[in-house]
Amino acid sequence: MMKSFDIDIGGITPFSTIDFPDKLAVVVYTQGCNFRCLYCHNYRLIEGKEARLSLASLESFLDSRKRILDGVVISGGEPTLHKGLPAFCQWIKKMGFEVKLDTNGTNPLMLQVLIKKKLIDFVAMDIKAPWDKYAKIIGRSFDTGIIKESLQIIKRSGLPCEFRTTVHSALLSKEDLTDIAHIVGYGYPLTFQICNPTPLFNHPNKYTSQELKEFAEELKRLSTSPLPEIRVR
Ligand code: SF4
Repeated sequence: MMKSFDIDIGGITPFSTIDFPDKLAVVVYTQGCNFRCLYCHNYRLIEGKEARLSLASLESFLDSRKRILDGVVISGGEPTLHKGLPAFCQWIKKMGFEVKLDTNGTNPLMLQVLIKKKLIDFVAMDIKAPWDKYAKIIGRSFDTGIIKESLQIIKRSGLPCEFRTTVHSALLSKEDLTDIAHIVGYGYPLTFQICNPTPLFNHPNKYTSQELKEFAEELKRLSTSPLPEIRVR
């Protein structure tokens, strides 16, 4: 019989080669988010306005992809807001898929449960800004101590991971990017993702991928302390 979980799914990307490193994956988007990032591409999802996808539909899709896909990326919205996330991950893993979680880092307790119970195989966490600029980017005040806790939990977990920053010249300076690199620290991958315009945030972005790659190289060369491996996407 079909299980039921306390989770609200707003859609999927049926096939992705870029969202789960070295895996072919489906991306499942949960609805609802506790942030309101200025540049969010998923504003319909964060307000819970997408039509809900039933677990039965998802199950039949996953059944039909068992021989084709390696993994399921659970993204959002913010997946860790959903109490049913551990059971949902377990259900996906029982179907034979690896699980990657995308999170904004606001629920360290949920992260601990998922890691302790070995329910995720990879975790990607956003570092939105240097700590003192978080509120400006996420559109609300939030205790950044909670985000720091999630960062440390992921680092200590030994799980394959990635930290990510969405980069727009109107929001983050190169000094900010330098601060973020130091926040993430040596030994962990950090990806700068160029922010593309959205209907709600369509200011021109002066950063180019090439410029950020050169900046990352220069940062590595000039820094007196070891930095993360920085990628640009
Ligand atoms: S955390 Fe992600 S889903 Fe939530 S508002 Fe920010 S960009 Fe959108």
